[in-house]
Amino acid sequence: MTEKTIDTDVLVIGSGAAGVAAALRAAHDGHRVLVIEKDERLGGTTAISGGWLWVPGNEQGVREGDTREEAETYIKYLAKGRHNPEMVDTFLDEVPVAMRFFADDAGIEFQYPQKAPDYQMDAPGAKVSGRAVTVKAADARMLGADRLRVQPYLQSYTVFGYMPEVGPDIATFLKANQNLRAFGYAARKVSKTWVQTLLHKRAYGRTNGNALMTRMITAAARQGIPMWTATPALEIVIDDHGVAVGARIGGEHAGLVRARLGVVIAAGGFSGNAELRRRYFPHDPDGTNHCTPTIGHHGDSLKLAQPLGGHIDDSPHQPASWGPVTTFTGRRGQQRWFPHLRAFGLPGLIAVDRDGVRFANESLSYHDYGVEMIRNDAGRDGTYGWIIADAKAMRRYGIGYAKPWPFPQTYFRRSGFLHKAATVAELARTIDVPADQLQATLDEFNAGAARGEDPKFHRGSNWFHHFKGDMDHKPNPNLAPIDQGPYYAVKIEMGDLGTYAGLAVNTRSEVLDAVGDPVPGLYAVGTAAVSVFGGGYPGYGANIGPAMIFGHTVGRDIAAHAAERAERVSAGM
Ligand SMILES: Cc1cc2nc3c(=O)[nH]c(=O)nc-3n(C[C@H](O)[C@H](O)[C@H](O)COP(=O)(O)OP(=O)(O)OC[C@H]3O[C@@H](n4cnc5c(N)ncnc54)[C@H](O)[C@@H]3O)c2cc1C
Repeated sequence: MTEKTIDTDVLVIGSGAAGVAAALRAAHDGHRVLVIEKDERLGGTTAISGGWLWVPGNEQGVREGDTREEAETYIKYLAKGRHNPEMVDTFLDEVPVAMRFFADDAGIEFQYPQKAPDYQMDAPGAKVSGRAVTVKAADARMLGADRLRVQPYLQSYTVFGYMPEVGPDIATFLKANQNLRAFGYAARKVSKTWVQTLLHKRAYGRTNGNALMTRMITAAARQGIPMWTATPALEIVIDDHGVAVGARIGGEHAGLVRARLGVVIAAGGFSGNAELRRRYFPHDPDGTNHCTPTIGHHGDSLKLAQPLGGHIDDSPHQPASWGPVTTFTGRRGQQRWFPHLRAFGLPGLIAVDRDGVRFANESLSYHDYGVEMIRNDAGRDGTYGWIIADAKAMRRYGIGYAKPWPFPQTYFRRSGFLHKAATVAELARTIDVPADQLQATLDEFNAGAARGEDPKFHRGSNWFHHFKGDMDHKPNPNLAPIDQGPYYAVKIEMGDLGTYAGLAVNTRSEVLDAVGDPVPGLYAVGTAAVSVFGGGYPGYGANIGPAMIFGHTVGRDIAAHAAERAERVSAGM
């Protein structure tokens, strides 16, 4: 039987931010594009994300006074010498170009928050705003019948199905148990979500990463780009000159895709692949010490490129962007992850290790706190700690998935997720932490917290910390003593938001072979490729920002690269 063959110009593997960015630009320039996605739904991890893009040098940021020099200084400081300077240059050169394309040509509506501090505000070149950009909430009806094809939200993040939008919306939700106006606001949003879900299977309003993907997929549909779900790429196909000219694909469209201009691998990273984690994640030597909420990040990007010499560049000082998680097993055995992106730097919460010792500033970013967790538990069996809260913090903020008052705690306690005890000593026994040490940790923390200080780790000492705290709490948005029983604990484990180590690529995002030469016609973008930040996590949007910028660049340049190749062949080179 002859193999079914499909012809296109550009084949994009993966339907997250990176892949669709490449697809949008290539189609805009008049090329035929096909996007294939192995999941049943479109949008990948991007669709369950916060939807932030870290894009220094965007026009709004520059108007606010951001400079190239400051951005470079900051990126380099965080990278600790593990970045590729040319890659950073390309990224910074391309930000304004790509952002103009997405806004003006693709019609993606961005928002420029007044404050979205860089994650390491004490580092040289850091900025309080102008670099992290979000996308406006979207009405999914813009997608017509395709609206249900987008990946749904991360369930553990929703409030009865509604996903609060980063910014004022979420801030109001967080106050819903503290003032009537906020409660009324949240109740209206949630009831609208329920009614629409009941009548139309899913609410129309889409926020955060789901809004980003809804908007990008709508733009792709407008361009007439076919996007096939449940269609995995199985193998990259090359011609006699070693040029990537297509792929074998599975699923209902199974067959051969011939891509005249090239193939873009945007199939995510490898944190969902135990064997690759064993190899690249120092804390996970047996592949069981890590939980990832990412979607489809099974290492396919590497599997596809490896036969052509593609390999992992593990030069970043951190192999992934860390995002510690709490894990929850529901009554029917359903597994839920709650990535603690707003970590535990709220007043009245701390985290301790298995010895009951605080080991880091809980107001660090989730990535930087993850680095500290790994460091603190190096050489020990497992990487975990305990988030500890007292009654007032639990009532006001909850602990991640375990929502605050008036949400009932029974469900979370019965499942073993949330531990509760009348005294610190009893809590310590419940979670198997030395009681004397836990009490000593609390005594030390409380003494400073009462004054709004944390002499040990300087929590609450800069704008980023405050942003992660409760701005209404005085004297310090991040600190309050933990001194009112009952006391609560939830186990925190290691997770990630996507890998930083990834396929080795050059500044054109071409996949490099075993000797460092580009595999002609083969590209990798997004978490499929090595991160531009060398292991640092500069600010909100450190994954999606570069994913979209490099995706756009590949989509724009892929035809020119193919023309270069053709010229070389005709010149007999
Ligand atoms: C809760 C959460 C919040 C986050 N918030 C942010 C944020 O606000 N900003 C930010 O920058 N980052 C954020 N991140 C991280 C970010 O979402 C991801 O790192 C980023 O979306 C990765 O984009 P991508 O295009 O590389 O991959 P994805 O969006 O995951 O897309 C890859 C797609 O490829 C598909 N695929 C895999 N293998 C194949 C194959 N063989 N054939 C076809 N398709 C395949 C996958 O199924 C997947 O759909 C967050 C992550 C999480 C979990």
